[in-house]
Amino acid sequence: MLRSFNIDKLHAKLISKPTLFKALSYIDKQIIQTPFLLIDTEKMKEKISLIGENIRNSKVFYALKANPDVAIADFVSKQNIGFEIASEGELKILSSLGIKPAKIISSNPVKSIKFLEMAADYGVKCFSYDSTDEVEKIAKYAPRSNVYVRLSVPNEGSEWPLSKKFGVELDDAVRLLSYAKQKALNPIGVTFHVGSQCQNPYNWNIAIDKAKILWDMAEREGMKLSLLNIGGGYPINYTKGTISIDIIESNINKLILEKFPEDIEIYIEPGRSIVGDAGILVSTVIGKAKRYDEDWLYIDVGIFNGLMESLGGIRYSYIVENNKSKNKRWTMAGPSCDSFDVIDRNITLPEPDIGCLILILSSGAYTVSYASEFNGFSIPKNILI
Ligand SMILES: *Cc1c(COP(=O)(O)O)cnc(C)c1O
Repeated sequence: MLRSFNIDKLHAKLISKPTLFKALSYIDKQIIQTPFLLIDTEKMKEKISLIGENIRNSKVFYALKANPDVAIADFVSKQNIGFEIASEGELKILSSLGIKPAKIISSNPVKSIKFLEMAADYGVKCFSYDSTDEVEKIAKYAPRSNVYVRLSVPNEGSEWPLSKKFGVELDDAVRLLSYAKQKALNPIGVTFHVGSQCQNPYNWNIAIDKAKILWDMAEREGMKLSLLNIGGGYPINYTKGTISIDIIESNINKLILEKFPEDIEIYIEPGRSIVGDAGILVSTVIGKAKRYDEDWLYIDVGIFNGLMESLGGIRYSYIVENNKSKNKRWTMAGPSCDSFDVIDRNITLPEPDIGCLILILSSGAYTVSYASEFNGFSIPKNILI
């Protein structure tokens, strides 16, 4: 069966044509059992080669939590970049693929003892931290490790802010670097996270300025740092175009060249920007209803089995199958019986029939990695195309 989709100009701007073309031809050839998540490996490859391109002396570590699928991790590792992880489960995925410990770092400032033991045993040597307790834990369970302190930086303008949970101010940061040294750890640098889906390039300016102040404070305390880890945060297109990665990176690179010594090493930890816009969730319309004056559309993927980030404000773009009808305003909901399971309100889409497919664009990151089988609805499988 050949399916037809309502693709408009905006879709064509938001998503790369080859990715969409591959997804559509995959769907046409299959007997469809939704939901599933198509991942365009060529797109991932393109993003991986782009990221770090414009930052001198940089190394890239994929933040595995964005999508920890084994086949994706395997593909990423073959592009010769490393991984950023936080847990035993993530380490197990990498060890099952035989990833070398030198390719693994952990930038979660608060790690479990079990994870620290496992990671140290595996040979992982790079950890972030932002408390004295964490210094003591790392010194005990992963002695002599390289450590970098997490600074708190503004997250305004990022759609998924992370600043409140982690990071310390400058005075604490320099104290923590000294304390790590005192505990026979090797304090090598500083890290921060500007917030995920960061649309405000100025956040990186502020963060890099702050890192530079810390750098000099550490030097005055007799510590020579060598690593600036700029975390993740690069944005992707959801419902509108975003600032491009090469522009963000050229700005970052310029700042670093101006402020820091020549020989420093830069780490970048992208998650969303590697796998997000390579992914298209394929779902099916399972119901429609008129409630008061609202038109509701129910699909087989929702908050609990993939679209959790909707709750935090991420909005997706949708391509609807097979319709000739006019646009209508919809409230879109997932399949479960829970009233939290509302994906989007006031979206304009042509009316699909029950059984029609809905493609959810830029949904490769922070979707299936969050998903549960709540209420018996299946978690979409990653399918690499
Ligand atoms: C989640 C996370 C990342 C990835 O962030 P993105 O916004 O997805 O690029 C990087 N570093 C750390 C420490 C993280 O927790």
